[in-house]
Amino acid sequence: MLRIALQSKGRLNEKSLELLREAGISVEENNRKLLARSSNFPIEVLYLRDDDIPQTVSCGIADLGIVGYNEVMERSSHPVEVLQHLEFGKCRLSLAIPKYVEYPGLEFFNGRKVATSYPGILKSYFDGKGIVCEIREIAGSVEVSPSIGLADGIFDIVSSGSTLVRNGLAEVETVLESDAVLVVTPGLEEEKMRTVRTLMSRFTSVISSRGKKYMLVNVPNGKIEEALKIIPSMKSPTLLPLADKGWSAIHAVVDESEVWEKADRLKQIGAEDILILSMEKLII
Ligand code: ATP
Ligand code: MG
Repeated sequence: MLRIALQSKGRLNEKSLELLREAGISVEENNRKLLARSSNFPIEVLYLRDDDIPQTVSCGIADLGIVGYNEVMERSSHPVEVLQHLEFGKCRLSLAIPKYVEYPGLEFFNGRKVATSYPGILKSYFDGKGIVCEIREIAGSVEVSPSIGLADGIFDIVSSGSTLVRNGLAEVETVLESDAVLVVTPGLEEEKMRTVRTLMSRFTSVISSRGKKYMLVNVPNGKIEEALKIIPSMKSPTLLPLADKGWSAIHAVVDESEVWEKADRLKQIGAEDILILSMEKLII
């Protein structure tokens, strides 16, 4: 039985459970319970604060965890192995200063004070760049620190940037890009790793089918080559002859963002009956 640590509440909780669900693994929601077992996969979920996930996985209390890459990096004294980037919970850790202050470059921070909840990442970044700066660790509301005179700048999580704008701050350096990652206890035994690999390949299927559509299009045989340049397929294209001789159907998986552009170009070369379907899973 594998044990996976998930955030009990917060930004990653829902998306982590959704990923498990889409991978065909049912677990009870966190009804104030610390542990919940899956009814159809050999896994149990341990619900924790995200700060505690790297340590819990590092020492093997949980075999796996889903946590922000930023937390993994901050808690590098509790090493874990990153197996997969899960492509949700995207954000970045950035330095920001009051927007009316001139920014000459990184040397701005020499001899200054920066407030953050991520002192470890910031210290190794400044050390690497030869900047000597006083790092003030605070747990929350980092963005108000400059306005109350606690610091000259901040180092914090940014996603849209609207929190910075609201607090009169401007982002000046991006230090780390982050998303949710699947982590594992270093040196996990082979028997458990086999189940982990099954889980990872299910996650890969779920992630790679996100934002994809299935496209069916009828093209005159003389235009097949041109059509295949517009919709390149993953391997060899699926081509099916139609009852009406002289026509074929092409099936392909296309990025949702490109569907309209591709459909317009296909119509221009004489394609007809373009059908776009949602895609449930893509198992490679
Ligand atoms: P916990 O109570 O579990 O300690 P928390 O308050 O520390 O939760 P959340 O705010 O729920 O943490 O964020 C969890 C993770 O979500 C972050 O560590 C980060 O990886 C990711 N994240 C993505 N976008 C954002 C954002 N805009 N603000 C904060 N975190 C974000
Ligand atoms: Mg936390």
